[in-house]
Amino acid sequence: MQFDFSTDEQQFREKARDWLSGNVPKERRPPRGPEMRVFDLAWQKAKCEGGFGAISWPKEYGGCELSPVEQMIWYEELSRARAPSVGCLSIALNHAGPTVMALGTSEQKRFHLPKILQGDVVWCQGFSEPGAGSDLAGLRMRAEIDGDQLVINGQKLWTSHAQYADYQETLVRTDPSSGRHKGITWVIIDMKSPGITIRPLRTIAGDEHFNEVFYDNVRVPMSNIVGELNEGWKVAMTTLANERAGATANHGVELGELVEQLIDMARTRVGPDGLDDALVSRLAKLRVEAAALRSVSYAMISRSNRGLPIGAEATLPFLFFGELQQRVRATALEVLGGEMLEFDGPWDSWVRGFLGDRMYVIAGGSSEIRRNIIAERVLGLPRSY
Ligand SMILES: Cc1cc2nc3c(=O)[nH]c(=O)nc-3n(C[C@H](O)[C@H](O)[C@H](O)COP(=O)(O)OP(=O)(O)OC[C@H]3O[C@@H](n4cnc5c(N)ncnc54)[C@H](O)[C@@H]3O)c2cc1C
Repeated sequence: MQFDFSTDEQQFREKARDWLSGNVPKERRPPRGPEMRVFDLAWQKAKCEGGFGAISWPKEYGGCELSPVEQMIWYEELSRARAPSVGCLSIALNHAGPTVMALGTSEQKRFHLPKILQGDVVWCQGFSEPGAGSDLAGLRMRAEIDGDQLVINGQKLWTSHAQYADYQETLVRTDPSSGRHKGITWVIIDMKSPGITIRPLRTIAGDEHFNEVFYDNVRVPMSNIVGELNEGWKVAMTTLANERAGATANHGVELGELVEQLIDMARTRVGPDGLDDALVSRLAKLRVEAAALRSVSYAMISRSNRGLPIGAEATLPFLFFGELQQRVRATALEVLGGEMLEFDGPWDSWVRGFLGDRMYVIAGGSSEIRRNIIAERVLGLPRSY
């Protein structure tokens, strides 16, 4: 087992640290509204100009093609520099871009990839529908072929950032007579198309993070289909594999930072009797759990660096992260009480984080679904339903 970084990796860390020290935006990312879109696009443009536009993308498409270890170093340095995340560009950079690269036509690649890389466009994901979230194959939004166009009617739900998006990666049912996983098509929709209505849904944190989107005879050229007609399920699996792989890479590092800030806050709040024993032991456990999360992430990176498949095991840190983050913020509420309302965290206020954490145990597959995946595909247990 090798724990040291190579000279090249250390040099990459210095280069990243150097660039970040002069380029991380000074102002805090706006939490909502068109100014958030402007901020996220500008940050992407700056990274692209600095040579850090898309760290995992192949060089052929203008990316950095970093090794898994270098990607981890980049995330560590981002976290150390308190740099903002990719924000509302996550679907474009982490899902749509890699999907178009893997399965798109050369025209789709030529048109979309440079725009994504250079921070010109926002994408959203139209997969979930009422009654088709965990059970994605139950989706019903209909697309009928009319000449060289698809005509789309129906509804999507929980579409993050749809109100700021230029394009949507969308799953539609093109052959309702086929079985659940068949007859689905993955298509790119221009969000300015006539017939689209977007209704924002307000979350407990006061954000309009996601939306209901309605489609009324929306016409989309057949040339916007990625992969084959009626073979969208396979394309969606490529998209979701990218979602899960990218989602946890930096979580361990950032959560570790939060735990350290929490421990510092607890230290400065010691009353005449010192800290409560139960709280002390919980803080110690949180630090151990954050270290465990980082270790599992490192183990995944090490596997991928050696060219070994990760597969369903990627669900482990995803599940653990979502639930651990909630425990960290619940402990912060105990330590800070009402003061939590005023306390700023490294990336966001603690109270906004507390309210927003709910999303990490639902989005991209709920905790129950993640447990099912681990039970069946990692542990080899029989299906229980
Ligand atoms: C913040 C956020 C952002 C999102 N952004 C997007 C987006 O941009 N685009 C998009 O398409 N979707 C998005 N989603 C939707 C997300 O993918 C779904 O919410 C998720 O897949 C769960 O589906 P559902 O909400 O329909 O819940 P359901 O599937 O109805 O589940 C309800 C409950 O039943 C449980 N359950 C369901 N099936 C099983 C089972 N087989 N075994 C055990 N328990 C089960 C679930 O765990 C859950 O607790 C987002 C969600 C959130 C929270």
